[in-house]
Parts: sequence; C-alpha cells; structure tokens
Amino acid sequence: MLNALFLSALLLLTSAQSVAGLLNKTDIENLLEGRYLVGDIQTDIPAYPLFLKNPAAPSAKPELAGYAFETIDLEPVRGYSGKPVDLLVMMDTSGVYRDVRLIDHKEPFFLNKPGTIRLMDFASQYIELSLQHTVEVLYWNEAGSRDAHSAELTGVHHGTVTAKAINRSILSSAAMVAMAKLNISADSLAAKTMANATQRRTHSESYTPLQWDALLDNHLVSATHVSIQQLRDTYATSHAPVNDLQTQLKDAQDALVFHTALLADPLAGRNLLDAEGWRYITNKRRTQQALMVTLNDHLDLLNKRDKWLTDPQPFTVSQNGKEIKLQLIDYEKGLSVPGYPKTTHAYFLLAEKATPLDPSQPFELNFHLKRRYGSNIVLNKTEEKQFAVEHHFHGWRAALTDLRFTNWLELDWVKLWLDRQIEIGVLLIGLVLLTTGLVMQKRTSANANTLRLVRTAYLCFTLGFIGWYAQGQLTVINITSAIASVSSGGGLDFLLNDPISSILWLFVFGTLLVWGRGTFCGWLCPFGALQELISMLANRVGLHQKRLKQSLDKQLKRVKYVLLLGILGSLYLAPAYSDYLTKVEPFETAITYYFVHDWPYVAWAAACLLLGLAVYRGYCRYLCPLGAALAAVNVLQRWSWIPRREACGTPCQTCRHRCEYQAIEPTGKIDYAECFQCLDCVSIYQDEEKCFPLIQMRKSGDRFVPVKPA
Ligand code: SF4
Ligand code: SF4
Repeated sequence: MLNALFLSALLLLTSAQSVAGLLNKTDIENLLEGRYLVGDIQTDIPAYPLFLKNPAAPSAKPELAGYAFETIDLEPVRGYSGKPVDLLVMMDTSGVYRDVRLIDHKEPFFLNKPGTIRLMDFASQYIELSLQHTVEVLYWNEAGSRDAHSAELTGVHHGTVTAKAINRSILSSAAMVAMAKLNISADSLAAKTMANATQRRTHSESYTPLQWDALLDNHLVSATHVSIQQLRDTYATSHAPVNDLQTQLKDAQDALVFHTALLADPLAGRNLLDAEGWRYITNKRRTQQALMVTLNDHLDLLNKRDKWLTDPQPFTVSQNGKEIKLQLIDYEKGLSVPGYPKTTHAYFLLAEKATPLDPSQPFELNFHLKRRYGSNIVLNKTEEKQFAVEHHFHGWRAALTDLRFTNWLELDWVKLWLDRQIEIGVLLIGLVLLTTGLVMQKRTSANANTLRLVRTAYLCFTLGFIGWYAQGQLTVINITSAIASVSSGGGLDFLLNDPISSILWLFVFGTLLVWGRGTFCGWLCPFGALQELISMLANRVGLHQKRLKQSLDKQLKRVKYVLLLGILGSLYLAPAYSDYLTKVEPFETAITYYFVHDWPYVAWAAACLLLGLAVYRGYCRYLCPLGAALAAVNVLQRWSWIPRREACGTPCQTCRHRCEYQAIEPTGKIDYAECFQCLDCVSIYQDEEKCFPLIQMRKSGDRFVPVKPA
C-alpha cells in the first residue's frame, strides 16, 4: 500500500512544471537602486534595456547603458537541488557585468542566511568581469586572481556543484543576450563567448565543426530525392499529367531534391548557420523547434515551367496526427557550411508555441506542389500533390550522433570526475570488495569473529572515506532534486556533477534488485555506519540497546514512510517547504559539516544518534525517509538470498532473536525491506554451536538438515 502510494506520488510529481523569472520591471529598478531607467522586456529575448540620462543634457533622449536579465529565463542551470539558481545580471553595452545579484536558490546546504551569503559572495566575483574573460572556478580554499583576459574565482565550500551552476548560468545567459542585443558584431567575440558557454554545457549542447558531407553522412541533414518518374507517377491520374518532358531528360533524373535539418541541435545549427543565423535560433530554441528545409528543383528543365506553382511556405508538418503550425523565419542568407550546394533555396521554419514539435519523436514533413491545368491558363485551375520529405534526426539516432561528436574532455562533469579520479578509484575498489564479500556471503560469514572484524572495518571505511572525506552521503535530497528537475522539464545530467554520489546511486540501483535495500543501508551509508559504530562502542562499555515489542516495532517502522510521503507531497503541495522537510535527515550536520552547524541541527543529529543508543539503528528503522524510499523499491527485489532451513521459525527462533534490526518474522520469514544485510543470520545458519537444527543433527548423527527452498 505504502509502496503504491510512493509510486503514485512520483508519477504525480514528475508532471511538468515550468521555471520562469521572478522579477518585473519595477523590481529591477529597485534592485539597481534607481541608477537606470528600465525599459520594457524585449520581445525577442527576456532582457530589460537599461538607460542612463545624460546629466549635462537632461532633456536629451536617455542613452542605452546595457541590459538586465534573469539567468533563469535564459539558461536555467540546475544546482544540487535539481532546481535552477536564479541571478540578476546587469551587463553594459561593451559586455562587462556591472552588477550580479543572487535572486533565488533552493540549494539544500545553503538555505540558511550564512549559506545564502556565501553564494552571494561567490556571485559577486563576476562584477567587472566581461564576456571577454575566460572564467575558471577554483576550489573553495584556493585564492582567486584576474587579469584582462581571464579570471580564476574562489569556489564555495561544500558547494562545487552550486558554484558551477552559477558560473554556467551567468556565462551562457550573458552570451545569449550579447549575441541577440549587443552591437558586438565581431564573430570572434560571439564565437569566443559561445565557446566559453557551450564548453560548460552537457553533451547535448556541444558542437564540433563538420562539413556538408559529414552532416549528410551522420544524418544530421537528411536528403530526399524525387525523380521525374515519381513526379509523373504522382500526377498520372490527375487533371494535370506530366506529358511535356523535354526529350533529353531521363526518367531517373532528379526533379526535386530536399535537405532537412533540425536546427535547434547545436551540432546541426551551429554548423549550418553563421553566428547571426544561430542567434535567431538560440533565442527561440528553448521553446520552439526550428527546421531547415532546402529545395533544389529542376522543374525549369521541364517544358512550361510556369505550369508549376508553390506557395511561399510550401511545407506542412504533422506529429501524432496533429498539424504543427509553422512560421517562416525571415532569414535570407545562405548556409555557412563548407560544401553546401549553392543553387538551393533554404526555408527556415519555426514550430509555433501553440503546436509544439517534439524533436525526439517521429513527425511527417510534406512538400506541396501545384500544377496548372486546363486550356485557359487565366482560370488558374490547379492540381495539388504532396511529397513526403525525409528526416532522420530524432530519437536514438539523435542521441547516438550527439554522443559520437561529444568532446568529452571539454565537459564540465568529466573534468570534475577527472579531478577526483583517486577518490573514484578508491571507492570502486571498495565496491568491488563489498560485492565480492556479499556474493560469497557464506564464506564471508563462516566465522562470526572474522565477520565482525570485516564489518567493523568496512563501516569505518564508509564513515571515514565515503562520508567524511569524499562526501558521498546519499540523501533523499537526491530524489527530490531529480523529481524537481524532471518535473520542470530538465534532465538528470546535473547529478553527474557529483561523481561519488553518481557511482553510489548506480551501485544502489543495481544491488537493490539483487539484495534489496540492505546493501546500501547495511554497508554504504555513512550516517548508518556512524550509528552502528557508536552502538558497538556502547556495547563494549556495557550499554545495550533495547528490543521493542514486535507490534510496536512494526508500527514505528511505518513512520519513515509517512515522512517520505510528506516530503514528496510537499514538493507538489507546498514546494517552498519541501527543502525544510528534508532537514529531518541529520546527514548534512553529521557528515557534510562534521557537526559544526547551527545548534538546532546539531541537537537533532545528536538526538538521532541517541535514539540509536536506545534502539539499534533507531533512526534508520523508524525515521529515515531515504531508507523508506529504498525499502519501497524493495518490491522489485525478488531473490530470497538468505538461506533458510525448515526449522527456521518452527521451532527455532535463534536468528530472529539475534537479528538486531528485528527483520525476521516469528515464522522465520525474512522481511527484506528491513534487512540490513549484516550477514549475522547467515553466520548463525552455518554455526554448529548456534544453529538449532545443526546442533540437533550433530547430536542425532543425521547427515542432512532440510532446507527451505528460496
Ligand atoms: S536507513 Fe537511512 S540513515 Fe539508515 S542506513 Fe539507510 S539511508 Fe542511511
Ligand atoms: S540478521 Fe537480520 S539484518 Fe542481518 S542479514 Fe539476517 S535478517 Fe538481515
């Protein structure tokens, strides 16, 4: 029931919500303290022109001083929370950032006032930099520097992902506004600025220069040929059959040749268009798809060319049976790509917002051609036929082509992974060792003392290395961020900015299906490890945890699901509070900030640890929303990997009484949603001194003990 609720909540939450700027003209005027006259938002790009009065000539027309824009309207880059960071940037007409303000963010580690101030301080480093600067974000403990061409900015402690998001938001948005509005016509500046911005984007935005033939070979441009024979066949049964061919023409010769491309893809658009053409598309591509269709017609080789007619916009597009309304873009220039045949006419078509085109799905593109007929040409009777125009650039082919031409070493997240290759290597070794130990579970747990040593050592590794050193604590915030990103139309690529968490999540997904939630909760969660290590120490000094009555334990285990549903529900019902609800997790205080945090957070983390002293892994079993999410997905886990005997439960209750997590039912059945994979029961199963059926067998001299089929 709770699992079903969890899945329904996920479906509901991932329905699209959009992101948009928060400020209006008056807000911007106030924020810039009345230094500028703010004009109306531009129709071609969401930017406000800023004007300055000339004090020497107060009656003269105010001069354009620059543009103010919210980055969320132009380049909504997602931070750690999965939601975009929003900044107001004021850029002057020479491309210098005169002011940068943090307007809004949902970054979980910076929600309090000191945290927000740290982000503001980081953003303010961009003031007086310009489009000409190559910007590099350093680690938080490295000193920044700047000169006329480059700037190294000091990063944010525990905020690498957030700082990178701010960086990309500013650079990409400024590049877009500069190319749309500033009279910086030099292609070099536009190219440099765009390169600066695109370098930092994910693979879907990267661009490798290609020639016309390469664009065709890679299906970035699709070609359609209509032969004279096809033309004749199409009109054969019409009022206007094509009988007037010039004799020297062969039927197989081309009558019409089309080339089609989806321009919003940088690989196609940046190669086909010059900087000015790309600027048109860049301004619209977030909301509207643009197509290029070129037509090379040989109709003039036929007799009586004037019998053929086309409308100024002769194409129609339909998708899923619905017509897509197209707008012809007024762009007369030829294409800039080397090798492009000069004789063709290019049409640039924009899918209107009211009927959006989904580029990842197939669509039909048709060319409409009219032919006059009748003896009296003045009557203008025409017969219209349509020809299907091919295009390939959608779905898996688009994804593959994108991957092929991605310059991986230029990608921000790849650089981050390379920076942390030693940590990644150590983590991978740790995961291989854990997987080996769990695959050979009987050997790992053959000796209870060895198992205790191995487990203690691994928990120390998890807490010390994965948690405190590499900052790889998975959290329910990863889930809420992913939902927030997907529901606002974004992807999950922002998660790649945190390599340790990405690897751990991949590992968790894999092992969830095989072993269930226990692999992460029992071995890889730093806060879980901290609780368990503290319990071990307490046990050493004679402080033992209590076992709750089974009925009470069952009731309390439901609390974590309620908390999880509360967090997920708040994303939809009260998004402003969802980040605060995730604070029920003490991970940030105990792992990210090493207990150096505001006192209410420290008190809560201490309370969770004290709970673990009273009841074994009390926080994990009763309160943890992440544990609840993993346990909910346990429904997919089908393999009963813990060996059982027929005597388990009836009459033997040894494992049940030894299981600290109370994950074994009186019948002997394992509750895998609550099992932490500690292997204690697997160890008992093999122990001739502890396992009741084995003790009996030893006493009776029997050679076989019945096992329960898995
Ligand atoms: S229940 Fe929560 S705190 Fe406990 S181990 Fe699992 S994820 Fe970590
Ligand atoms: S003792 Fe309990 S928690 Fe440990 S493996 Fe067995 S059932 Fe799971």
